[in-house]
Amino acid sequence: MLVHAIDREVLDLLLEMGKSNFPDEFIVMLGMEKGVITTVYPIAGTTVTSDSATIFMEMIPLGMQIAGTAHCHPRGALWPSDADLQIFSESGQCHIIVGDPFEVDSWRCFDREGYERPLEVVTA
Ligand SMILES: [Zn+2]
Repeated sequence: MLVHAIDREVLDLLLEMGKSNFPDEFIVMLGMEKGVITTVYPIAGTTVTSDSATIFMEMIPLGMQIAGTAHCHPRGALWPSDADLQIFSESGQCHIIVGDPFEVDSWRCFDREGYERPLEVVTA
């Protein structure tokens, strides 16, 4: 199913995580129901290689759907790095990057090729 929206509470949580982890990065997987991102799955450690993202995907219980990933760029632009693009291409269709100053609009969503894509914010 196509991801078209994110629950506002999840987005707020991601921005909050960015703020509280600052200046460190974090990365999580995003779970969805009916095309809406509703869940955050923390992954141990602060960095994730494309290998560990792939392993994580394989551990997701049947019936759960992974929308993609979210991580933060504590400093620097909200554009994916080469390493990010590798992870994007292997783990879902919707990848969020949040960044300083972690305000309502301090985030962007990318598709698995690394192109910015729209994502509606909804209240569940
Ligand atoms: Zn990144």
